[in-house]
Amino acid sequence: MNNNNIDLFRNYNMASHNIKYNYLKSRTNQTMDFVEKMHTIFNNFDTKMEIWDILEQLNSFTDMSDPDISIPNLYHAFQTAEMMRADNQPDWMQLIGLLHDIGKIMYIKGNDKDGTGIHQQWAIVGDTFAVGCKLPDTLIFSEFNQYNPDMKNDQYNTTLGIYKKECGLDNVLFSWGHDEYLYKILDSNKNPNILPPEALYIIRFHSLYAYHNRSSYMYFQSEKDKTFFHWLKVFNTYDLYSKTDTIYEYNTLKEYYMKLIQKYFQNTYLYI
Ligand code: FE
Ligand code: FE
Repeated sequence: MNNNNIDLFRNYNMASHNIKYNYLKSRTNQTMDFVEKMHTIFNNFDTKMEIWDILEQLNSFTDMSDPDISIPNLYHAFQTAEMMRADNQPDWMQLIGLLHDIGKIMYIKGNDKDGTGIHQQWAIVGDTFAVGCKLPDTLIFSEFNQYNPDMKNDQYNTTLGIYKKECGLDNVLFSWGHDEYLYKILDSNKNPNILPPEALYIIRFHSLYAYHNRSSYMYFQSEKDKTFFHWLKVFNTYDLYSKTDTIYEYNTLKEYYMKLIQKYFQNTYLYI
């Protein structure tokens, strides 16, 4: 699969009311204050869950931002990982192919008022963007950018905003969602793992389409970002909801991926 297929699989012209609503709510509510509040709320990692149970529990979570919601989360996880495996991508990449979306489990601790619940998901799913600087026109539904209250704040509404050129994406705050949440979980010393930094980079920025698919925010890139950028491109060619007829043998896949979990994680559970 090549990058030209991205727009084919992400055809938002036919976007349903739910998708559009999700982006309107996200653009309107994801301000610097909101993002900082979410970082505080989801910073305690006090709930222990088996990694495999998270995958299974997410199967009942319907992502309202996705153009094709007919594909269950577990199938998407298997499909992403198995396509990587078929292409001989490194095993850590296959593993994050499987796990990249498990940050959506946030809903069990969240609430609809904050957009972190089962019905209101605008702070769990959807494309992400930087807060503290101008919202770029490359965002999906950029016509909603004007509704973000921070865009009336002179500190936040310039191209660089509160950041410095080449400060590194690690030093930029992004809208809250399943990417950042899983990154924080895996970065916590409660969840020891030996995933390479490239893996954490992919997890953290895989929904930042304005960056990896539209080349926005390039002026924030550090040397590290320049080195890691291509991994987002590679990953994204697999992270698409493609309709295939492949039938997966659940037990065989579970056995293979549990071995990878045991290789890269100290425990088979995570504190979320
Ligand atoms: Fe995702
Ligand atoms: Fe995904």
